[in-house]
Amino acid sequence: MFLEEDEYHIPRKCNKCGGVMVFQGVGEYACEDCGEKDFDDYGKVRGYIERHPGANAVEIEMFTGVTQRAIRKMLRDSRLEVRADSRAFLRCDICGKEIRSGKLCSACEMAMHRKIEAEQRTQTRDKSMRGYAIRPTGATGMKRFRREEN
Ligand SMILES: [Zn+2]
Ligand SMILES: [Zn+2]
Repeated sequence: MFLEEDEYHIPRKCNKCGGVMVFQGVGEYACEDCGEKDFDDYGKVRGYIERHPGANAVEIEMFTGVTQRAIRKMLRDSRLEVRADSRAFLRCDICGKEIRSGKLCSACEMAMHRKIEAEQRTQTRDKSMRGYAIRPTGATGMKRFRREEN
């Protein structure tokens, strides 16, 4: 079983001389004795995406040996950033459509937003707090903005 800090398979020992590996930043490690470089899972995936910006999770898994599950986890934790032209890595929590970041696709996010707005409107009406009511123009503006985003 791995400890929490071993989640990314951090290299501890040099493959060449058995020396201690020292963290160099962004998933990169170097041997204290001979300078041999190695990477943890994060460093491997990040390096691969930098060289192949359009790569998908299957390719990354094939070339780095890092599991798709671990790759997705890095994306969800926002440890990794995928370029806008990159193919999808994640799936929407609600409908399962492929997405690039976050948890929901734009359609489900919009539906969720509408639902929350409708609930807020109902609550506001129930409380008869007209002063706090959401202006209808504001809601329309939000929808228009959302649509442009897609
Ligand atoms: Zn070494
Ligand atoms: Zn969705």
